[in-house]
Amino acid sequence: MSRSLIYRNRALCFILILFCSPQRFASRNLPEEVESTAKATQVIQVSNNTWHDFSRLVDVQVGSHVSGVSELKRYLHRFGYVNDDGGDHESSGSFSDVFDGRLESAISLYQENLGLPVTGRLDTSTVNLMSLPRCGVSDTHMIVNDEGIYTTAHYTYFNGKPKWNRDTLTYAISKTHKLDYLTSEDVKTVFRRAFSQWASVIPVSFEEIDDFTAADLKIGFYTGDHGDGLPFDGVLGTLAHAFAPGNGRLHLDASETWVVADDFKGSSDVAVDLESVATHEIGHLLGLGHSSQESAVMYPSLRPRTKKVDLTVDDVAGVLKLYGPNPKLRLDSLTQSEDSIRNSTVSLRFWSGNLIGYVLLVVVFILLR
Ligand SMILES: [Zn+2]
Ligand SMILES: [Zn+2]
Repeated sequence: MSRSLIYRNRALCFILILFCSPQRFASRNLPEEVESTAKATQVIQVSNNTWHDFSRLVDVQVGSHVSGVSELKRYLHRFGYVNDDGGDHESSGSFSDVFDGRLESAISLYQENLGLPVTGRLDTSTVNLMSLPRCGVSDTHMIVNDEGIYTTAHYTYFNGKPKWNRDTLTYAISKTHKLDYLTSEDVKTVFRRAFSQWASVIPVSFEEIDDFTAADLKIGFYTGDHGDGLPFDGVLGTLAHAFAPGNGRLHLDASETWVVADDFKGSSDVAVDLESVATHEIGHLLGLGHSSQESAVMYPSLRPRTKKVDLTVDDVAGVLKLYGPNPKLRLDSLTQSEDSIRNSTVSLRFWSGNLIGYVLLVVVFILLR
């Protein structure tokens, strides 16, 4: 190999390293991290929140009897953390105000599933997270990812790991269960973008059709009890839910203040970004459960006035394990991963999470030596 060729190859290596450098991603990420830390230090107050304010329960000790604990148990029961049989669960769905050992275990499991330090205590960050609006799909009854080379995985699947066995799925947006203040074209545009994100990484395409009854995936806005056993609860609280593959229903709470704009200028304090929630719920339609990684689209909670639409390495790795990669868009997948790092709280996860990028880099190094 001539000397000039060696220099050129070394320059190419340098450019590749710069392109993939974790610091590059870390610098982009810094403002979000600072903002997130600042928010974690105080108990969040969200006006019009459907859920009870749990802030007075911060640091309540095991064995104590405090008004509001029963509400907390009801919350944890709603998302699968407290069983509805035995213990202190009384008739007609009421719970006692005693902070018992079962509640402590439930809090520990919640903390584990939501990526918090597992203490079993009601610390400020745990109570803050419980106060945020979130997806209505339960966090439990999920199966964790298969342990493998992707050891930092946080994604989960529905029990039995159901998936669709077709390469094209049709979807329809209800013409009757809709919002007055958003045009159907705006809603369709949002869902086209959300579906295309998932379609870019897996060999499944999504076709929009008019026939709601015939569609594989059925999307609509509903209020309160709408007949599937998962009633919506008004402003904030639960925002939406979707069912596992085979069912195909995706329901959004019509009581939310949904926004489709690129920013939240002039929006209400309780505005919720439709595309962020659509992207999350489509993950459920495809078979993903909740991720414990806060930056992931499949993380269960979403702050009002927040946009989280980019799939992260964790989201992509989870869905790839179910469906395999999209053979046509390999380069796009890598770009996707790069975009997602922007939202990652620990940029070094690139090296453990983005295995494809890492392996490619090593191969390039070996070839150019
Ligand atoms: Zn969810
Ligand atoms: Zn529903």
